[in-house]
Amino acid sequence: MPSSAIKLTVLPGDGIGPEVVSSALKIISAAGVTLDADVQVAGAEAFKRGVESGVPSDTIQSIERTRLVLKGPLETPIGFGNKSANVTLRKLFETFANVRPVRELPGVKTPYAGRHIDIVVVRENVEDLYAGIEHMETPAVAQCLKLITRPGCEKITRFAFEYAMAEGRHKIHCATKSNIMKLTEGLVQHTFEDISKEYSSIEARHILVDNCAHQLAMHPEQFDIILTTNMNGDILSDLTSGLTGGLGFAPSANIGSDVAMFEAVHGSAPDIAGKNLANPTALILSALMLLRHVGQGKIASAIENAVLVTLESGVRTGDMEGARAPSSTSEFTDAIISNLGKTSKLAKPREFKRINVPQSSKEVGHVDVASRQVVGVDVFVESLEHPVQIGDTLTRLAEGTGLALKVISNRGTAVWPDTGHGTSLVDAYQCRFIASGPVEAEVEDSQIFDLLQRASSTYRWVHIEKLQRFNGKDGFSKAQGES
Ligand code: NAP
Repeated sequence: MPSSAIKLTVLPGDGIGPEVVSSALKIISAAGVTLDADVQVAGAEAFKRGVESGVPSDTIQSIERTRLVLKGPLETPIGFGNKSANVTLRKLFETFANVRPVRELPGVKTPYAGRHIDIVVVRENVEDLYAGIEHMETPAVAQCLKLITRPGCEKITRFAFEYAMAEGRHKIHCATKSNIMKLTEGLVQHTFEDISKEYSSIEARHILVDNCAHQLAMHPEQFDIILTTNMNGDILSDLTSGLTGGLGFAPSANIGSDVAMFEAVHGSAPDIAGKNLANPTALILSALMLLRHVGQGKIASAIENAVLVTLESGVRTGDMEGARAPSSTSEFTDAIISNLGKTSKLAKPREFKRINVPQSSKEVGHVDVASRQVVGVDVFVESLEHPVQIGDTLTRLAEGTGLALKVISNRGTAVWPDTGHGTSLVDAYQCRFIASGPVEAEVEDSQIFDLLQRASSTYRWVHIEKLQRFNGKDGFSKAQGES
C-alpha cells in the first residue's frame, strides 16, 4: 500500500448499502486514488450477533484508528428493542455536525429544475430529542427529553459559519421553533444571534421552522445554508433532497472535531436491496465530500465532473424521472468510470477549502451566571383523582414546608385552580410548588425532601424538577393558562 493511501474504515451497511458503497469505491479507485480500507460491520449484522448498540467493538477500534469513515445505510429496528446504530456512531464519536448539501443536477428532472437550487442543511447531530432520553411516566404517558445545550449550540453555529466561509457562501438561515419552545429552541436562536456578530460578512437570519418548510416548497432558491436542530434537520433535509431529485442524490457528512463519517442521506431501501437497481449517486457524492475533507479536492472535482457528464448524457437508474430504459447500479457505475477525464458543460463542481472545524473542549461545558436561585419545585405525580381533589390534598400536605401549591397542570395545561375548561386528563400531573415565604428566599433541598415525603404518603411521584432563576430570569416554562 503506497504511503499516500487514504486510511479509512468502510462500513458497507445494510440493504442496498454494499451495492452503493462498492460502486463508490470502484470509481475512486478508477480515478487513481489509493485507499487503505478497513472493512467493518455495523447495523443489522451486529444486532444479529447480539451487539445491543449495533456497533461492535472491532468497528469502534477501527474508527478510533482511522478517524475517517465511509458508510452505507444501517437498518434501525422501529419502536422497540435496540438503539439506532447510526445514532450510536454519531454520539460515540461526537460527530456534532451533520452536513447535507443538495444542488440542482443536470439531466435530473424535477418540478424545480431551472431554479438553481443549491442549499446546505447543517443539522446539529447529537442533542435535541435524539439524545434518546425517554421515560414512561405512567403506563399511559411517554416522555422524551429535548436536550439543548449552550456549548452544543455554539459549536454547531460556529461550524455553520466556518462552513459558509470555506465554501464562499453568503447567507445562513437558522430555523427553529422558538415561538413555542422558548427555552430549548430559543437557546438555539439566541446563540445563533450572538455568534453571528463574529461573522459580519455572512448574512444571518432567523426563520421559524414551519415557515422554512413552506418557503422551501415555494421559493427554495432563496436559501443558501439552513442551520437547525437535530429533529428539524432530519425532516428538512429529506425535504431538500426531494427538491433536487430525491434520496438517490443526497449526500451527507457527519463531522466532529476528531472523526468524520460520510454517508448517503437515504436508508437501506430493503425493497430494492440486492437487485442491482439502487442509484449510487448519493453515496458517490458523499465519498467526494470525504475526499475533499482529506484535502483531495482536485480528484474529487474530477470525479464529480464524470458524474455530471454521465447524468447529462441521459444514463439513468430506475428511480430517476424519465428513465425509460434504466441502467443497473453497475452499468451506471461503469458509465461514470468511462467519463472520467471529461468536463461537464452544464454544471461546475464547487471549490472547497478545508473547513475550520470547532474543537470540542475537554472541559465540562457550562455558562457563568451572576446569580441563581431555587424558587420552587415541580413534582410529577401519577393519580386517577380529579384535579380538585389532588389540589386540596397537596395544599394540605404542603402546609408547614415553606412551599405552597401554585398550579397543577396536565399535558402542559393548567387544570387547578379550576379554569372552567373541559381539558382531557391523563394520569400524570405536574404539581408546581413555590416558596411561600419572601420572594427572594432560596428553597432548601431539605424543604423539597420534606414535601416529597409528605406527597408520597398519598401519591406515587414520578420525577421532580427544581424551579430555578438564573440572572433573575425564570429557567422554566409556565403551563398553558398559568398566571
Ligand atoms: P430508505 O431506505 O431511504 O428508502 C425509501 C425509499 O426511497 C426506497 O424504498 C426507495 O424507493 C427509495 N430509495 C432510497 N434510496 C435509494 C437509492 N439509492 N436508489 C433508488 N431508490 C432509493 O428509507 P426507509 O424505507 O424509511 O428506511 C429503511 C431502513 O433504512 C430503516 O431501517 C431505516 O431506519 C434505515 N435508515 C438508515 C439511514 C442511515 O443509515 N443513515 C437513513 C435513513 C434510514 P422505491 O420504493 O421507489 O424503490
